[in-house]
Amino acid sequence: MRPDALAVARAAKGFMPDDEGMALHDAGLDGGRTGPLLEIGSYCGKSAVYLGTAAQSVGTVLFTVDHHHGSEENQTGWEHHDPEVVDPHTGRMDTLPFLRRTIEDAALDGIVIAVVGDSPTVATHWRTPLGLLFIDGGHALDVAMGDYSAWSGFVADGGLLAIHDVFENPADGGQAPFLVWQRAVADGFTPERVAGSLRVLRR
Ligand code: SAH
Ligand code: MG
Repeated sequence: MRPDALAVARAAKGFMPDDEGMALHDAGLDGGRTGPLLEIGSYCGKSAVYLGTAAQSVGTVLFTVDHHHGSEENQTGWEHHDPEVVDPHTGRMDTLPFLRRTIEDAALDGIVIAVVGDSPTVATHWRTPLGLLFIDGGHALDVAMGDYSAWSGFVADGGLLAIHDVFENPADGGQAPFLVWQRAVADGFTPERVAGSLRVLRR
């Protein structure tokens, strides 16, 4: 990965440890040979830099989907809240300006394409098969399962599905991404790689 972009990824606000980010980058290099990459859950663009540099290397793009108003767990009073991402004008979270800054700093304009909207709504109108789908949106069970239901059918044959924050043991974290991973396996995706809480499967 380009060292300048790696420094930007490391410095960006977000929820992607470096070792998992590098595993995601590797998955992007692989999946990107089959088709474009799509991420659910941009936040401030941290994971988008790991994936976007991979897309750039193999001549494709990354679509990154987020309404930018945060998940339940990002709101005021919750564990993953950051008051710096609240827009004083609206009083709501708005991470879009942070995403744009991260993408520009990493020189990934034109490679990382922000899609601003509700994930299942975007999926309803989506048509393009994907080389890699990365699910890292809301972690409530209905939200995470909704993302899987809406998007998993777009993973091309031979393409990859990556799921973040998969914890088998409830003591380590919420169970929704693990339940999504189990459903993906039941649906015929083949588990290929684990890096921390990141799991990569192939169709
Ligand atoms: N991948 C990021 C972290 C994503 S946090 C990183 O590397 O740091 C989860 C994101 O999912 C939040 O920004 C939130 O706004 C978004 N999200 C939650 N539910 C959503 C929905 N229904 N549609 C679009 N985005 C959603
Ligand atoms: Mg995550």
